[in-house]
Amino acid sequence: MKILVANLGSTSLKYRLFDCGNGQERLLTRGGFERVADYAQAIDSCLRQLLEGGWIQSEKDLAAVGFKPILARGITGCVPLDQKVLAAMEACNQIAPAHNPPYVNGVRLFAQRMPSTPLVGLFETAFYQWAPETAMRYAVPEAWYQQGVRRWGYHGASHKYIAERSAELMGREDVAQRARQLYVDDGKSPVRAPDFRVISCHLGGSSSITGILNGVGVGNSMGMSPQSGLPQNNRVGDFDSFALPFMMRATGLTLDEAERVLCRESGLKALSGGANDMRDIMVQAAKGDSRAQLAMGVLVHQARHWIGAYFLQLNGIDALVFTGGIAENSSEIRQEICRNLDQLGILLDPAVNAASHGQEVQIGSPASRVRIQVIPANEELVIAREVRRYLQKDHAAGAAQAPVQNRL
Ligand code: ADP
Repeated sequence: MKILVANLGSTSLKYRLFDCGNGQERLLTRGGFERVADYAQAIDSCLRQLLEGGWIQSEKDLAAVGFKPILARGITGCVPLDQKVLAAMEACNQIAPAHNPPYVNGVRLFAQRMPSTPLVGLFETAFYQWAPETAMRYAVPEAWYQQGVRRWGYHGASHKYIAERSAELMGREDVAQRARQLYVDDGKSPVRAPDFRVISCHLGGSSSITGILNGVGVGNSMGMSPQSGLPQNNRVGDFDSFALPFMMRATGLTLDEAERVLCRESGLKALSGGANDMRDIMVQAAKGDSRAQLAMGVLVHQARHWIGAYFLQLNGIDALVFTGGIAENSSEIRQEICRNLDQLGILLDPAVNAASHGQEVQIGSPASRVRIQVIPANEELVIAREVRRYLQKDHAAGAAQAPVQNRL
């Protein structure tokens, strides 16, 4: 069974093709397009590459196309992206303005191009279905909560892959098995003692940090919207809610203008004075640019803040994992995040860390009590598996099969 997993950006389309026979997912090929002006044409080109590469004989060979949508009103888990679900995503456009509109547009174009192929999405919020309520609530009136003003958590597919892979690497097959089955068995299948505790740091264009207990997400630094938590490339991250009315009154900004600033002109871009790609920021910082140095410093500080929060919540950790474009590739950012944590049992091997760029490698010193591990992101694998399960309808009741009434 061949499943195409498509990653939709506003101007990019990345894809991976999996063979999902025998309950195993095997990556066949991958590709993508940047600076896309005509999205329908990019979809065409993607399908043509699969045909010309001999990966599929005809488009009918694709059992489904899988997606990782962010947020929809009243829906999470792994569901077909039909008109009802797309409308529920559009209802959240204002919560995820950088994500939902291009996503809905991309899925509609896929639907036009491939009308008889199932289009199935695994929502990023699904990994946090079992997080404790105390970790997910804001202190707002009940009526606001009923409107969906609560923490949701994002990057679920990425952190779920880390939950599985870190357990595999550390010989906890019981936990890895539970993590792989998470949306089938509610994360309740038994694991042996002691607890397996992981902090997963996904640092990239979007960044978030998650605590994982025995394969299950216990919370995420992103809250109600993917603009929150750590500073993002051009989105604000956490800030005091009273700063918004203050700046609107002080400067006469309209709500739409203020939203645009928070969503497009903030984050690393604002701190650095214009650059939002960490590679550019690091080049400027190395030349002595103090704003670029500040942008790096704030990202590191915020990462340590969230690592500290989950370290306490989990009563210490077995593994600290780095994933995503920045954390996989930048030894400097990893070094700064791990600086001076030896009393917590977190001790890098500087030489191994410095030599590690983008591969799966353990970067802790032998004296480190905590395993420090780089794991390249592989959210597509998680999506391919859940889509295969959806097609084979082997979900248990409750978790990912039926849309969960998540009260948004
Ligand atoms: P997204 O969150 O958009 O999926 P990725 O996880 O692919 O993004 O991360 C993309 C980001 O990774 C880029 O914006 C860039 O800042 C960062 N990045 C890539 N390579 C490096 C590197 N060698 N050093 C520092 N940052 C890097």
